[in-house]
Amino acid sequence: MYQAVLADATFHKQLLAFDRDLAASARAARCWLCGGALHSASYDRKPRGCPGGLGQGYAERFSFCCAVDGCRKRTTPPSLRFLGRHIYLATVMTLISAMQLGITPSRLARLSIVPGLDRRTLARWRVWWRSAFTDSSFAPVAMAAVMPPIDIAALPVSLLDRFAGDVREQLIALLRFLGPLTGGASAMRAF
Ligand SMILES: [Zn+2]
Repeated sequence: MYQAVLADATFHKQLLAFDRDLAASARAARCWLCGGALHSASYDRKPRGCPGGLGQGYAERFSFCCAVDGCRKRTTPPSLRFLGRHIYLATVMTLISAMQLGITPSRLARLSIVPGLDRRTLARWRVWWRSAFTDSSFAPVAMAAVMPPIDIAALPVSLLDRFAGDVREQLIALLRFLGPLTGGASAMRAF
């Protein structure tokens, strides 16, 4: 089921549409520091794990710069496609991490659906999920928002399970929930 979502170009395009909305809202809110107008200053990313047919525009990480001389502060809206500077798409990081829970070596072969993924990357993602909920500025907010507390060792499945709907709806809700980790002044900092 997760594999079908990973390969679903329509689903990925829906995430891009959400990102466009988030970017439009951020732009309308103007510069967080001086209230100046925002100009487009997107990053050209090279995300891994994209299914075919998404086009070049999919790699654009929306971001803005204040137009006011002497300010020029950057504003980066939350994203449902990118998690900070992680090179794999947020969808890939979430669903592959979920598939890893309780996985046996033979099932690891099925992960070849995402080229270039190795055990080291998967181990890094496990650490990231844990630290996002225990050791980041987002952690206290996140833990307060999910009651009763989620099982940290079972992330991201334990978080997906808190949202209603089918896998796609749960994933969208999860990616929105992680918005504070993906946007803002720290959005381009590595986690
Ligand atoms: Zn400004």
